Formats: sequence, C-alpha cells, structure tokens
Amino acid sequence: MSQPKIIVDTDKLRHNAETIVKLCRDAGIGVSAVTKAVCADIRIARIFIESGADMLADSRVINLKKLAQFPVPKMMLRIPMLSEVDDVVMYSDFSLNSEMATIKALSAAAERQNRTHGIVIMVEMGDLREGVQSDEALEFAREAYKLPRISLAGIGVNFNCYGGVIPDEKSLSEFVSIAGSIENEFGVRLKILSGGNSGSLYLLKEKKMPRGINNLRIGEAILLGRETSFGQTPDGLYTDAFTLCAEIVEIKDKPSVPFGRTGLNAFGQKQEFEDKGIIKRAILACGRQDTICDQLTPRTKGARYLGASSDHMIFDITNAEKEFIVGDIVNFSPSYGALVSAFTSKYVSKVFR
Ligand SMILES: *Cc1c(COP(=O)(O)O)cnc(C)c1O
Repeated sequence: MSQPKIIVDTDKLRHNAETIVKLCRDAGIGVSAVTKAVCADIRIARIFIESGADMLADSRVINLKKLAQFPVPKMMLRIPMLSEVDDVVMYSDFSLNSEMATIKALSAAAERQNRTHGIVIMVEMGDLREGVQSDEALEFAREAYKLPRISLAGIGVNFNCYGGVIPDEKSLSEFVSIAGSIENEFGVRLKILSGGNSGSLYLLKEKKMPRGINNLRIGEAILLGRETSFGQTPDGLYTDAFTLCAEIVEIKDKPSVPFGRTGLNAFGQKQEFEDKGIIKRAILACGRQDTICDQLTPRTKGARYLGASSDHMIFDITNAEKEFIVGDIVNFSPSYGALVSAFTSKYVSKVFR
C-alpha cells in the first residue's frame, strides 16, 4: 500500500464505540455518532451502528449522502446553508438550527418533497458558536412551531468549540429548564435534548449530568479515546485506533541551524532555530498536503518535530530510541485535526485492519 497511509484498527474503534454507547446508555442518553472527521467513511459508520449508536451525524450534506444506505436516523450538525436546504431535507432526519429564515426554507423544501423535517434548535450557552440566545429560545420555538412541515424535535447546545467553554451541571440544568418551558408551552415532549459533544462525557463519569439530557453528539471520544473538556482518556478507551504512517526518504547528519542568508520559509514565515550542533535529521515523505504535521505524535520516543512544507516533514532523530534507516516507516498518533486532514487528503491511503 502506498505511503503515507492511515491505518484504522477496527477492533479498537469498535471497542471505543461500544464503550461510549454503553456509558451513555446507562445514563439514559442516546449517541449521535459523528462521522465528519473520517469523511463519513462507510466502514467506520457501519462499526458505529453495529456498536449501538442511535444516529449518525455529520456536518456536510456530501457525507450524509454516503450514509443514506444505513437505516438509522441522520443528523445534520452544521447550521444548514440556505443554498442546501433541499439536500438537508432529503438526506437528514434532523438538522441543528438557529436561523428562522433557514427553518422557513427547510419547511418549504420539506413541502416540495412531501415530507416533514425535524429541527433541533441550538441554544447559546456561552461557547459563542451557533445558537439562539437562551432568553429568546421560547419565542424562537413558538415561531418554528407554526411552520407546516417542521417538527420541533428538540433543542441542542454546543460547547468546547469556539470559546473552549466547558459544559457543567449549572449550564446544562439551565438548558434542560429551557426545554421544560418549551414543553409546557406546547404540551409536547421534546424528543431530543442534545447536551453537547465529547466534552460533556466527563459529567457522566462524575454523575453530574442533569436529568433530561438524552442525546450527545460524539466524535473525538470514539475515534481517539479522548474527551475534550480536560483531554482525559475515559476508562478503557484506546487512543491508538488510528495510526498515521510516513516513510523516511533521507537521513543525514547536518547542523540544527540553517546556514546562508535566510528569508522566509515555504509558507512565508520566518522561523527561529535552536542551535543543538550537528543533529541526525530524517526527511519523511509526508507534508502539509497530507496532514497537520506539527500535530502528529511519533510513537517512537525521542523523535522531535523540526518542520514541514507541502510534502516533506523533518524530524530530529538524534535521540530516537530506534535506529532508523532510509525506507523505514515512522508511526504517529494524529490529533483530531491531523486525523481530519489526513482522512480528507487524497494523497493519504486508508487501510483497515
Ligand atoms: C463536530 C461536532 C460534534 C462532535 O464533536 P466531538 O468533539 O468530536 O465529539 C458535535 N456537535 C457539533 C455541532 C459538531 O459540529
């Protein structure tokens, strides 16, 4: 198989998905398994479903289309563009929303397709990405409720994204009470109270998840075994289900500081260098068109990242615990961003084991 590549350990991934689903289910919470980081790869989506996920969720219509073959509800995560409402109605059962103009357009699209579309109203609770202000949620729900082809499926909240705000008992209790006021007003029960992403999982462990939250949208914790509020690994999860591999094309002993007159690097930046004398430098055939190079953690201790351009990255392997030669493959653990980027790059082959 060509290099660079990303190897998916399907047993570890399945274990992670089953563990998260069970953790949530024991607390009365369903999981919308998030596929966007892996471009909705259908082999991975299948593992999520077989592991008991209630729904598949993605932020892009092009990915939801790939998931159409699976007989589980789909959730559109990104606030829909007005220009894509027809596809959103066609390929998802629920979408997260915060703009009335868009919900009206979704209603019209549903009308054209002779369907009903479920909306989850996003409520702003401090992270400052999507959502209506919490004191406007009820009025917003009132207006959405009037639309003919829209069913008010529930409300949702997002944390840990723009502001890095950590969900807690207080903010989520307030969120549940907003749901309560909507339910009272219409005499209905909202089907979905979606209390966040991987960053909300720690509340389950600490038994602090407010009663009423019945859905979480989980990507990173399943894929990389990491919750995103404190960067912890919940009990029993694997952090190495994905391995990024890159091949060494040059190893030379060279200085640690460039010589000659210096200007900007390949990405227009001026870099600082620490003088460590002569070091052993390895060039790997993998660069910024493949992944986010500075967010890779080498599985070999002692290898140190020096820099990258479009299709090369350079590591200091002077103190690496392994003696590398040209042609060797170096294994890395990708961050979430590096995983997204590697999965999206057509230059990185995907291998399933
Ligand atoms: C990506 C995304 C998620 C998943 O977040 P993780 O941190 O990967 O669990 C949840 N909700 C929304 C709205 C998202 O865009």
